[in-house]
Amino acid sequence: MLIVEDLHTYYGESHALQGVSLRVEAGEVVCLLGRNGAGKSTTLGSIIGLTPARRGSIRFDGQEIRERRPHWITRHGIALVPEDRRIFAGLSVTENLEVAAPRQLDRERRWPIERLFETFPMLAEVRHQDGATLSGGQRQMLAIARALASEPRLLLLDEPNEGLAPVIVQQIGALIEQLAQTTTILLTDQNVRFALRHARRGYVLQKGRVVWEGSARQIATDPEVQRYLTVA
Ligand code: ATP
Repeated sequence: MLIVEDLHTYYGESHALQGVSLRVEAGEVVCLLGRNGAGKSTTLGSIIGLTPARRGSIRFDGQEIRERRPHWITRHGIALVPEDRRIFAGLSVTENLEVAAPRQLDRERRWPIERLFETFPMLAEVRHQDGATLSGGQRQMLAIARALASEPRLLLLDEPNEGLAPVIVQQIGALIEQLAQTTTILLTDQNVRFALRHARRGYVLQKGRVVWEGSARQIATDPEVQRYLTVA
């Protein structure tokens, strides 16, 4: 479904991604691991066009998308839940979801708003509240629900658990399991155990390069991988 080859992304003169390659097959949950600053967020940002890559190739369902704009990419089936969970603070929960939805009849959509509220009961309870009044967990749920409202075939989740209470982390884990039945997911996480519990395979990044890839089980047990993941 997604084939990323030799991606190079810069912030000014700083060479953040130095030839990242990875693949995600339809139906998989794949994780990107690595220490702070390894390039995980930049990889997701480059896939969706927010931090455009200067060189390399990103093919999604066979189509080259590297030079496409974020809104085009979102309309064509990839959604990002960014690390900072940006939502519209002045809009209600329902309005946040409505603005993300494509102009399509509800019955043609996989994620009409009522289905989102069934999947996220925590949001249904606060559907009329402004984004600004939500707790951290509610904001994250809204950020995920809003990404789904754009009807993605590939969902990019950047550090979905960062800073959230264990009970919310558990709910996000259960949600990923549920979404994985119908949606392909590429996620990053600092919590290696969480990522491995939910992903089938993973890539380890270091200094903007993929230094290791393998199954969740190999990542959990290979001492070489641990070197890239534990704090130096
Ligand atoms: P984290 O978990 O801290 O977000 P990460 O693995 O997602 O880490 P990135 O955020 O992708 O890493 O950062 C990759 C490199 O790019 C780092 O060296 C970082 O300092 C740099 N970088 C990230 N964002 C910017 C930016 N807006 N401007 C300049 N450099 C940046």
